[in-house]
Amino acid sequence: MRAAFRLSDLHVPTLKEDPSEAEVASHRLLLRAGMIRKAAAGIYTYLPLGWRSLRKIENIVREEMDAIGSQEMLMPAVQPAELWHESGRWDVYGPELMRLQDRHARDFCLGPTHEEIITATIRNEVRSYRQLPISLYQIQVKFRDEVRPRFGLLRGREFIMKDAYSFHADQESLQEHYDEQAAAYGRICDRLGLEYRPVKADSGQIGGSETTEFMALADNGEAALVYCDCGWAANVEAARTIIPRTPTATEPRELEKVHTPNIRTIAELSQALDIAEHDTVKTMAGKTPEGRIVFFLVPGDRELNPLKAETAVPGVELLGEEDFKTYDLPKGSLGPVNVPHGTLVIADSSLEDDVSWGVGANENDYHFLGAMPGRDFEVERWADLVLAQPGDGCPVCNGAKLKGARGIEVSQVFQLGTKYSESMGAMFMAEDGSEQPFLMGCYGVGVSRSLAAVIEQHNDENGIAWPMSVAPIEVAVIPLSSDDIVSPVAEQIWNGLADAGVEVAIDDRDERAGVKFADADLVGYPFQVVVGKRGVGNGIVEFKDRATGERTEVAIDEIAATVVKTVEMERARFSHSAVS
Ligand code: ATP
Ligand code: MG
Repeated sequence: MRAAFRLSDLHVPTLKEDPSEAEVASHRLLLRAGMIRKAAAGIYTYLPLGWRSLRKIENIVREEMDAIGSQEMLMPAVQPAELWHESGRWDVYGPELMRLQDRHARDFCLGPTHEEIITATIRNEVRSYRQLPISLYQIQVKFRDEVRPRFGLLRGREFIMKDAYSFHADQESLQEHYDEQAAAYGRICDRLGLEYRPVKADSGQIGGSETTEFMALADNGEAALVYCDCGWAANVEAARTIIPRTPTATEPRELEKVHTPNIRTIAELSQALDIAEHDTVKTMAGKTPEGRIVFFLVPGDRELNPLKAETAVPGVELLGEEDFKTYDLPKGSLGPVNVPHGTLVIADSSLEDDVSWGVGANENDYHFLGAMPGRDFEVERWADLVLAQPGDGCPVCNGAKLKGARGIEVSQVFQLGTKYSESMGAMFMAEDGSEQPFLMGCYGVGVSRSLAAVIEQHNDENGIAWPMSVAPIEVAVIPLSSDDIVSPVAEQIWNGLADAGVEVAIDDRDERAGVKFADADLVGYPFQVVVGKRGVGNGIVEFKDRATGERTEVAIDEIAATVVKTVEMERARFSHSAVS
């Protein structure tokens, strides 16, 4: 379809000022470029340009899903509570689930995800292994009453997701489709122009089922990542990395009690004891659900990872101020020597080779130097407890130094196994005649979040610098005046480009040149054709590349061919075949 727009008609309400509520670039620019408007916290209207970009993302996702044989469908947003009772999630989902009642006081929810509906649909229709595997997807609004909706489209309460679900007779088939989905997700990121890292759960993460999160790198990302040049990446909270340790003490020494008044921090302690921070050992106290005290010991220069503490001791909670009083524990001087009776002492595995430790003495204002495990105290268990950080060793490359980055989770693939098919009784007849629950996978792309992620990675001080694949309109023709010298030339170029299949807008508004330039850079048309009086007199126009800022003069009778060629090259860069 011909895509020719007049900015005098098109509804693009750009804003000159930064909206005060916007904390991150994508939120600010989506509002300023007239692409979205807020209806309520985390709930947005997509204006014409926002919707165009969103549709482009949807279409890329669609092409990639169709290419791996997933079939598009559409499920209802309103879901009956009965299905959620069957899966057991009605009670566990909590306040994030938006619940409502119909006129007969029957319970419903607005779908935050669609495992229940799809499982109920398939269980009544697919009966035999011969009908498997099957993969279905939809692109639809999702509802989650997030505690903190923020950052515009990055964390909404109503947002657009592509969710796919697959059903299989055996693990091999599930694995095969899971791998296809993961590959498609990589291609989707590439085609959106996103720099990303796949974060795998099977390479040192906590948790059972196999899953991969696709993280778009961005300074404002909520996830802190460590990654290696080999391609391995993980969330710091879940990563098991190789902790570099070079303890200074190599010989056993006597236990020495040191008076350490007013010591609050590890830095102060290392000064008071005259040893390096990494030679001190930090003790964090927690309690089990049964009330047993647990001491977690980590190197002084590292942080305890609460998720790993919970994995090591299920149900453990770190002590609060009140607890220290209740248990009569000296908060600033905890250590493994002379622990209260019954304390579970658990130390980070990276400490195992340290000969002697500088630790708290379990007595206010006192520490020990030269404390030796096995001689002065016992470690009941060694475990992985430390929060990973850049500089740690890659667990795959055996020690290569990891780098740090922040990431936005744009998509995730997940092997569900029989979780939903079992609880909801979705069975099929296997080849041997037995009844078995389906093996399932689910695969989600945050479509609206991806739009914001693209902007986070592609912007500068003047506005958005889209990758061609997501730009709402590919080219802007900017006449600098509306007289009968400039206007006819601009209109002719605009028409010619539209005829050649380029998406093109002409800025025919009665505005000053400065306003038109600013708006064009803000909205971020990847290419601009500037038509001015002097240029036309000399038979030339200016051709500008938005991302690089590069300008070239092109003869009027060559501009259409130049633009078409450039646009086609850019389109090709983001095509399915370019990334597969
Ligand atoms: P998060 O950890 O960021 O809350 P999630 O892991 O709960 O996300 P999934 O259930 O995996 O999200 O949903 C699939 C995708 O949907 C996510 O990868 C993300 O891109 C998108 N998504 C999830 N929650 C939101 C939200 N509140 N706003 C916008 N997109 C979202
Ligand atoms: Mg997720």
